[in-house]
Amino acid sequence: AKKHQATLSARQSSSINPWTGRSYSSRYHSILQTRLQLPVYQFQSQLLEAVASNQIVVVEGETGSGKTTQIPQFLVEVGYALPGKTIVGCTQPRRVAATSIAARVAEEMDVTLGKTVGYTIRFEDVSDSESTVLKFLTDGMLLREAMNDPLLSKYSVIVLDEAHERTLATDVLMGLLMEVLPKRKKGSKFGELKVVVMSATLDAEKFQSYFHGAPLLKVPGRTFPVEIFYTAEPERNYVEAAVRTAIQIHKCEGPGDILVFLTGEQEIEQACEEIRLGAQDMGKDAPELVVYPLYSSLPPAQQKKIFTPAPGPRVVGGPPGRKVVVSTNIAETSLTIDGIVYVIDPGFSKQKVYNPRIRVESLLVSPISRASARQRSGRAGRTRPGKCFRLYTEQSFYNDLQETTYPEILRSKMANVVLTLKKLGIDDLVHFDFMDPPAPETLMRALELLNYLGALDDEGDMTDLGRQMAELPLDPQLSKMLICSPDFNCSEEIVNIVAAMSVPQIFMRPRESAKAADEAKAQFADATSDHITLLNAYAAYEEVPIEERKQWCWDNFINDRSIASAQNVKKQLRNIMTRLDIPLVTCRGSNGKYDTNTIRMALTNAMYMQVAYLQRQGSYLTVKDNQIVYLHPSSVIDGKPQWVLFEEFALTSKNYIRTVTTTRGEWLVDMAPHYFDLDNFPECEAKDELILEYKKKLRRG
Ligand code: ADP
Ligand code: MG
Repeated sequence: AKKHQATLSARQSSSINPWTGRSYSSRYHSILQTRLQLPVYQFQSQLLEAVASNQIVVVEGETGSGKTTQIPQFLVEVGYALPGKTIVGCTQPRRVAATSIAARVAEEMDVTLGKTVGYTIRFEDVSDSESTVLKFLTDGMLLREAMNDPLLSKYSVIVLDEAHERTLATDVLMGLLMEVLPKRKKGSKFGELKVVVMSATLDAEKFQSYFHGAPLLKVPGRTFPVEIFYTAEPERNYVEAAVRTAIQIHKCEGPGDILVFLTGEQEIEQACEEIRLGAQDMGKDAPELVVYPLYSSLPPAQQKKIFTPAPGPRVVGGPPGRKVVVSTNIAETSLTIDGIVYVIDPGFSKQKVYNPRIRVESLLVSPISRASARQRSGRAGRTRPGKCFRLYTEQSFYNDLQETTYPEILRSKMANVVLTLKKLGIDDLVHFDFMDPPAPETLMRALELLNYLGALDDEGDMTDLGRQMAELPLDPQLSKMLICSPDFNCSEEIVNIVAAMSVPQIFMRPRESAKAADEAKAQFADATSDHITLLNAYAAYEEVPIEERKQWCWDNFINDRSIASAQNVKKQLRNIMTRLDIPLVTCRGSNGKYDTNTIRMALTNAMYMQVAYLQRQGSYLTVKDNQIVYLHPSSVIDGKPQWVLFEEFALTSKNYIRTVTTTRGEWLVDMAPHYFDLDNFPECEAKDELILEYKKKLRRG
């Protein structure tokens, strides 16, 4: 470690950047000054020593102490990575965090993003096999890499960051690393693999004991007291209350930036707008207020803006301006924004919820835990004493909030994970070393789904189809749809549909011009299918010359960023299809029209487990799970067809099914007799209809 220290200080005082061979820029030196102030620097040699003498090290430290941006750099600087041979990888639960931190670290190291420092997120790989020594990637992508490289042979160190978040992929990775580490001891074929598990909360002891007593290092944090305020009464509308509080702070409180936590893009954009209007109303004499949103689908250039320092005073000697960042959970622990003194916490975030009984996984706005609330308030005390405004009552904090959020693995459908683990050769899921094992019913549901889809045989072994499905970075149903689409002569169309479904909603419907937006969408509508409507919009976009596309999207209420990323997704999927020998064929006739029947058959062939049947009284009932559902108002489906398949079950005020396609009883009994098996079918109107279909099928022969 002494040697490490020596190399480090040598590097820090040298004027030549060892990664580029060029002199450091002046920006490098100025950033270095701020970096050296971070608490992790005190702790550099202790960390490097612990890593040198242990295979696993657990690091716990206050958010903002420099763990994510500095620790991976310490490791590459002392030589854990060799360009073209081994790399240091650092996982992040969120895509935004992976891309934004990679950009920051590239800046700190004074190197090009995508060369020395890179990142990999689903459908986007900005790294280089020859020169990348440090790569930030989502935990899900590392899991994917493990499928083709089970020993993670190109990694010398894996930093599992934000482990306290307990995402599904991080939990699975931890279990996987427990199996990989003994095979990557010193002297093994690919050399020793080190793991650094980083966590922001006190839960670190839980990790320590899971990793059989790995050393636990605590980064000394520095935080200032944060005064907490609660509301006297519950707030009816938390977005409104958050806006009001932000304006109030700007009017009445001393200098310091504001961080507001909301749950998603729409809410955040709305709040930003209203805060801007509120600040305008205060007139030109009030200090300037700038407002920045932060959420995952925001383009990187805009995400970066949150780090712009607050504006100065309007007049020399006047009060300084203020910055407000309105963010999703990402600012809770993943990203640290300096200068925050006030935090507004309405107490909600979007969380994944899975109900195995009805097989529905949804993102619901749900109350956060007390642990999250504490993290959020902590963000106000990084640089000096701060204030946190909780928009709920103190009683509610103690009585209604859970102490911690359940790990995601207890709230997710497991089909994807089970397929991944099977591909990794882990057959005994019951004895896999999960930190918190998933509910048996959830595992059963996953195995059942994969068996119905033909990915696993009746013994639970992976089939050829299953192996192919595991290669695609998609949900099992979409993977199957894509793989089987050539049988229906429409793989060109299905890959477009899958790409358009893998990105944020491409149809926009701003409240103030809803009617115009609906009319624009109607041009693409296919009355039998929302999926084909997506396809039509996407195909129309591809025919517009590149330089006119932005305008075209604007005119047609299409989200241009979304549809452009759909193009990228499509490109990647087509590459994988080529690799898997899945032919690209089209059902488009010489008149340019699609054979929509075959497209709907291809959809049915993969989606038959998500089908609903029209009841005599007018609503739909989902097959087997018997949930009453309604067509979502955004659906372009004409009338009320007897059978529909759906992509998404949206649990809101009403149970809606979204992205819907008309299907036929005849297709269902043809394609999935093992699922629509009358002997095991609950009595219902759909069953009567299926009985008729089977009779017709017999007659057809
Ligand atoms: P931790 O992982 O311990 O929470 P980080 O390494 O994420 O801490 O953050 C360390 C510091 O780096 C913080 O002060 C943060 O504000 C700063 N930082 C991170 N990204 C950027 C960026 N893009 N621009 C400016 N400062 C940044
Ligand atoms: Mg961090």
